[in-house]
Amino acid sequence: MPVLVVGSVAFDSIKTPDGEAQEILGGAATYFAITASYFSQVRIVAVVGDDFGPEQLKAFEGRPIDTAGLERASGRTFRWSGEYHGDMNEAQTLDTQLNVFASFAPKLPKEYLDTGFVFLANIQPALQLQVREQLPSARLVGLDTMNYWIQRTPGELSQALARVDLMIINDKEARMLAGMDNLPRAAAAIRKMGPRTLVIKRGEYGACLFQDDCIFFAPGYPLEEIRDPTGAGDTFAGGFMGYLSRAGEASLPNLRRALVYGSVMASFAVEEFGLARLLKLTPAEIENRFHEFRRMTHFDA
Ligand code: AMP
Repeated sequence: MPVLVVGSVAFDSIKTPDGEAQEILGGAATYFAITASYFSQVRIVAVVGDDFGPEQLKAFEGRPIDTAGLERASGRTFRWSGEYHGDMNEAQTLDTQLNVFASFAPKLPKEYLDTGFVFLANIQPALQLQVREQLPSARLVGLDTMNYWIQRTPGELSQALARVDLMIINDKEARMLAGMDNLPRAAAAIRKMGPRTLVIKRGEYGACLFQDDCIFFAPGYPLEEIRDPTGAGDTFAGGFMGYLSRAGEASLPNLRRALVYGSVMASFAVEEFGLARLLKLTPAEIENRFHEFRRMTHFDA
């Protein structure tokens, strides 16, 4: 089953203790789409400017990614620049330029309207909501956001949250959104805002899932070297949603496996700069790391 994503397609400039890169292809929807394409068909909804050429498009080609919903507008593509020092779990944003996203009004191609699994990746909540409203019969709609939108557009964000089934967010932003430090309490408060299911990403410490009375944890994969954490959260979401759409149903056992696939994919993303590692993954590498996770976490009660 296909999964649809709306979110940023960007040029990123990144500095980490390991090196730096200028204006490389990034964006939440990009990381999500490439990752989810290892599991299922992907439909992308985003906008790029006239500085986005065949070179960038190559990242999507040869994969099951439908770019009919990738609109081209005149102007500059979204740009983000960030830096990591010390704590590799958190980027310091140096600059965000919405550019063509500032006036984007997403119109879904007709053939996208039957999509069952939808992910509203990080972008203006108003755009997330516009896409959500065009898919009234979607079976599972997930949403991610970040401090930038929690602080700037809280009203729009709460409208979008009221219309989704699942939220995927990092721990710091979950605390900010809920206005409380204790994570289980913050989770309960966020679930009251709309989503029945909540996934809180905790960087290298893994992720946890809250649904009704169930709590499930997956650790982060223990890597000796992290070169560039950019996109890890979107990659996590791509693995999570990609696996669910391949499985076809968001049952609790599938949600638990999806959490592990999300962690597996994120662990690959950080091994190299930008999209480099994700672009050359093989299905066998993904399955091997999934089974390693199983071995590392299995115990008899
Ligand atoms: P992550 O490291 O998973 O949080 O995601 C980083 C990616 O999100 C980068 O590729 C950025 O281009 C993109 N990004 C950063 N800030 C924003 C924002 N305010 N809205 C949408 N996308 C963003």
